Amino acid sequence: MRFEAKARNCNTRTGEIEINGKKCSIPNILWYASARIPPPPFAELKLGEEIGGGGTFFYPKECKFCIPPSLIYPHFFPDEVHQEAFEISREYFNEFFSTVSPKWDKIDSFIYIMANARELFSNPRNFVENIVKIREKIGYSLLYAPGIANPINLPILCYAGIDLFDSLDVIIKTRKGIYFTSEQEYKIEEIEDYPCSCKHCTKGIDGFSDLLMHNYNVMQNELIKIRELIKKGMLREYVEAKSHFNANFASIIRIFDSSFYNFQEKRYAIVGANIIASPYSLNRPDIRRFRERIIERYSKPRCTKILLLLPCSAKKPYSASKSHQLFNRAISVTSNRQVIHEVIVTSPLGLVPREMEYTYPAAHYDISTIGYWDREEVEMINKMLKKY
Ligand SMILES: [Zn+2]
Repeated sequence: MRFEAKARNCNTRTGEIEINGKKCSIPNILWYASARIPPPPFAELKLGEEIGGGGTFFYPKECKFCIPPSLIYPHFFPDEVHQEAFEISREYFNEFFSTVSPKWDKIDSFIYIMANARELFSNPRNFVENIVKIREKIGYSLLYAPGIANPINLPILCYAGIDLFDSLDVIIKTRKGIYFTSEQEYKIEEIEDYPCSCKHCTKGIDGFSDLLMHNYNVMQNELIKIRELIKKGMLREYVEAKSHFNANFASIIRIFDSSFYNFQEKRYAIVGANIIASPYSLNRPDIRRFRERIIERYSKPRCTKILLLLPCSAKKPYSASKSHQLFNRAISVTSNRQVIHEVIVTSPLGLVPREMEYTYPAAHYDISTIGYWDREEVEMINKMLKKY
């Protein structure tokens, strides 16, 4: 068994794992497979075939590559109870799989199964705090969150750093007659026109199996989209966009940014694609890192005596824009331009000294500008100017 990360973005990565000689991409979905519920034709990993079910805690099954049963109590139970459960469960863990909980010790394995995933995901703060604790325990190993993924939440789960998911939530919701798009759940009987052109929607959905295959298609499209976004360095923009469809997703982004900057800062790359800035971007780790480094590490050229604050421009780098070329012309006719320290005032980066305008992300962001700064932006600029 082997895992190779090929591209990373935000708190996650994409890559390849090899299980029993079979190569599969990461992130990926373990598609449930049984006689009654067949896996989709595109399934790379089948739950129940390549990866077996290890039975329940009371009736464990023996097999080599199986998800082991474990005794899991609700997350809010006292730590001693969880540790007791760990002592009982650990005999089922193996070199391939073990269950990881922030509340108990760790047994080294290839893939870690997140305990209480469903319960934790229902509360954004608990979810983020515990994902961070789990990552601190298992480092960059593979993490599987059972029973929570669907086409809507898949991007935010990947963003949080989970690598493997399963199709169980989609099956349960399909049984309840839920039709998924990548943004919303609909009751199948309430849809007049299917917003999808898969073969099941084209011919008309008739029964559980058609609906399941449509939902699987949406899930798979989302998975492929996420892998591509990771490779292109655009996952953050996508999860920000999807946060408009679920307030919990927005909370997860904001809690990560506000309370776990150090965790994220280690994972966010120091170069990347163009940032499409939104109101969430003010505390994005790569943007906050730029602001902090300007204050902590940068010092102005010693010859400069006059601070000249300039507005930003839509075109980057700023000096390539028409307005900055005009500024430059005006500055160049002064008797001693060496004493002028040019600093560009911008949101969400704050202050960008002219000599830093080519560095990431100063030359790599776009933001909607309408000539109005909101309170957070004004506060950020004021704070930064005072420290500068
Ligand atoms: Zn469809």
